[in-house]
Amino acid sequence: MSAVRGWCPSAHRPMQSGDGLLVRVQPRLAWLSADDLLLICDLSERFGNGVIDLTSRANLQLRGVGTDDHAPLLQALIGAGLVAADPRAERPITVAPAVTRDSRTARVADAIYKSMTDLPELPGKMGTVVDAEETRVLSDVSGDFRFEGCANGLILRADGVPRGRPVDERNAVQALTDLALWFLDTGGTGAGRMARHVATKTLPPEWQTVEPAPASKPMLPDVSVGHLGFAFGQVAAGVLNKIIVKSDIYGAYLTPWRSMIFRSRVVDVPPPSRGASVHQADIQVPLDSLTDVSDAMTDISAGRANISDLNPDISIVASEDRDLPTDILLSPRGALCSALKDVGIDVAGLVTHASDPRLSVDACPGAPQCASALAATRPVAQQLAGRVEGWLHVSGCAKGCARARPADVTLVGTASGFDLVIQGRAGDTPRVRDVDIETLPELLEQLG
Ligand code: SF4
Repeated sequence: MSAVRGWCPSAHRPMQSGDGLLVRVQPRLAWLSADDLLLICDLSERFGNGVIDLTSRANLQLRGVGTDDHAPLLQALIGAGLVAADPRAERPITVAPAVTRDSRTARVADAIYKSMTDLPELPGKMGTVVDAEETRVLSDVSGDFRFEGCANGLILRADGVPRGRPVDERNAVQALTDLALWFLDTGGTGAGRMARHVATKTLPPEWQTVEPAPASKPMLPDVSVGHLGFAFGQVAAGVLNKIIVKSDIYGAYLTPWRSMIFRSRVVDVPPPSRGASVHQADIQVPLDSLTDVSDAMTDISAGRANISDLNPDISIVASEDRDLPTDILLSPRGALCSALKDVGIDVAGLVTHASDPRLSVDACPGAPQCASALAATRPVAQQLAGRVEGWLHVSGCAKGCARARPADVTLVGTASGFDLVIQGRAGDTPRVRDVDIETLPELLEQLG
């Protein structure tokens, strides 16, 4: 087995790509206010090439940053509180989007953020997933250390094994440290990732006792609830800016599925009483009248009413350390839809509904954005979306950055075109070399 090398770009340690430096921003608890987003759009145009990536770890990436522009960009990001001043605090962590502020997921993630600089040094691609509610939404998201809900609370699961170890959330950071030290002490660095390591090294039985909570249905773009996707994970800063300004969006959760869940602030309400569970949740109240909403919030804050079952129409967000006031947030339906009309959905490459065929396609930036690319990927991905059965992966080279897992159909860029891998990864042996993209659907039918 070959060792996994490499690292993920960060804000402090950007990665050189074909179009300049890649500078990654990792929003805390997967949330960015509208001001944060507008600042990122502005910085992308001032210091980069105006192209923003959404990554599969729910991060944003500014592309095309010049070497001389990195230092002022970094200072601006640190100054805005979007990047930690200490580079050791920049470690990959993916948090379930749209969780309640007082949820177990948010508490565990907060504890990890505070301890980032004390955790053991690990290979650069290793990351933590925090998905600790009654159903898991991040089951398809890459992560080596997985805090997940279970029938009786919380587990920490090593990626690559089906069960984890029960964890008291107050000891979550200690458990993470213990599992990281087991990985290092047993020679995991050579494998580079947890799943590769546990495939050859037996994880002690106490780390494999409890099954995680069931996985929920995937959260797919649906503009009617403010969930907007970006084709192949890329958006122009000018387009994003326009959407935010025109729809008066209050902020957005970033998802690892290359999308954002937008929220609009509707009305200010009194802050919750201490201990009241009103941070971010959905409540059932009539939508006709803002006074009704405000009254309901007051009752909840005072403990006279309970937050009831989920209703996608309304959510409430509050935070002590994210500087969010207590607000009622609505899915920005009408305003978002008219902003999108204005922006031009097709031109902007926006994904507004779950049946968009591009949701079953992964395509890395390819040429000319990536210096290692042997082919342009996204035009091919766009051309084949919906014409190929199953999951399609179009990769600019055999590295396969856009998708680590196998896909039904993988096209791998070469010096002479594209090779075809069936049911595999970009690095696997191709079934057919130099395929004709135009007739690929027919070829796939012949191959069965
Ligand atoms: S798969 Fe290759 S071409 Fe695509 S982004 Fe990664 S290194 Fe670049």
